[in-house]
Amino acid sequence: MFEDLKEYAILNNVPIIRDGGFEFLSLEIQKHSSSSVLEIGTAIGYSAIRLASIGLNVTTIERNKDMYDLAVKNVDRYNLNDKIELVYQDALDYAPTKTYDLIFIDAAKAQNRKFFERFSPFLNDGGIIIVDNLNFHNLVDQDLSEIKSKNLRSLVRKINEFKEWLKNNPDYITEFTDMGDGMSVSIKRC
Ligand code: SAH
Ligand code: MG
Repeated sequence: MFEDLKEYAILNNVPIIRDGGFEFLSLEIQKHSSSSVLEIGTAIGYSAIRLASIGLNVTTIERNKDMYDLAVKNVDRYNLNDKIELVYQDALDYAPTKTYDLIFIDAAKAQNRKFFERFSPFLNDGGIIIVDNLNFHNLVDQDLSEIKSKNLRSLVRKINEFKEWLKNNPDYITEFTDMGDGMSVSIKRC
C-alpha cells in the first residue's frame, strides 16, 4: 500500500514522512487516543492519507498549488474525501474553525515556532503537538562551520533555536525522539 505515493515522492524529491517516523506517530496516536489531526504541510498528501487510513479525521494545509492539486487527486484516488479536508492556503494566514487532538507540524522548517504559537490554541485538552524533521537529515548535530551553504546553516541554527525554545516552554512538557528524521512530542501542562 502507498507504494505509488512513495515512488512519486522519491522520484520528485518530495520530503514525505519516513516509515520509522510514521510508526512513531501512530504509536503516539494510540497512546493518546487521538481521533483528529491538523497537519501543517500536505505536500502530495502522503502523511494525510496514512493518518486517515488509521482512522483519523484530517485537516491539512498546503500553500503550494501544484502540491495541493496533487494531494486532491491522491486523496480522491484513495477514496478518503470524507476523512481528509484539504486547505489551499499559507498556514500562517489560516485560522482553524475547530480544535484537534493532534497538531502535526511538517512545513517550512524555519517557521516551526510561528506554527506552534499560531496553532497551539486549537489543541484539545489532553492533545499533543508533534513537530517533524528536527534532526534535519542529521545536519542539526553537525558543527555549524562544517555546513557549507549559508542558507542551510541559518536553517539548522533556527531548528536548534526552536528546540531550545520548546524545551524551555513552561506551558508544555516535551520529549524528543530520533525516530524518522527526529520529532518532538509536546503535551500541555495541566
Ligand atoms: N506532511 C507531508 C510532507 C510535507 S513537506 C508528508 O509527510 O507526506 C512540507 C510541505 O509544507 C511542502 O509541500 C510545502 O509547500 C509546505 N509548506 C511550507 N510552508 C508552508 C506554509 N507556511 N503553509 C502551508 N504549507 C507550507
Ligand atoms: Mg517531514
